[in-house]
Amino acid sequence: MESPLKHCIFCEIVAGHAPAERVYEDAATLAFMDIHPRAPGHVLVIPKRHAAMIYDLDEETMAQLGQALLRVARGLRAALAPEGLSVVQSNGRAAGQEVMHVHFHLIPRGVHGVPSGHSPQERATLAGQIRTAIAALRA
Ligand code: AMP
Ligand code: ZN
Repeated sequence: MESPLKHCIFCEIVAGHAPAERVYEDAATLAFMDIHPRAPGHVLVIPKRHAAMIYDLDEETMAQLGQALLRVARGLRAALAPEGLSVVQSNGRAAGQEVMHVHFHLIPRGVHGVPSGHSPQERATLAGQIRTAIAALRA
């Protein structure tokens, strides 16, 4: 059995015990702003149930993550009109994984005219725009 909850920051976010700027969630997944964005609009998409690396996911959860990724990607495109979008997912320390709870980075590239997202206030503003765009696409 996994018992990571006490020490996993992303499980704490899922549980609502740690703060995050949420932009999307469904039964199986959660998306929120990266606290150290590599670019404006940097979002992380995670499974709600703890899994350390991609190998630990079951196929159904992977499919649900794929659906969430697509929804968030389209929301980012609608909200920020980026010139490009990177999807990055790292497994293991050698790959640069720092948080041992599976996460996909969605990093918009070539975004103009929006705040960097380095301050909490800027992240809140960006999150509001992205959340609204995702919801509008889903409506
Ligand atoms: P990785 O190197 O792929 O494990 O990336 C972990 C990411 O999680 C980094 O981009 C961090 O900035 C981000 N991160 C760590 N803690 C938090 C947090 N509490 N809220 C949002 N993002 C976080
Ligand atoms: Zn976790």
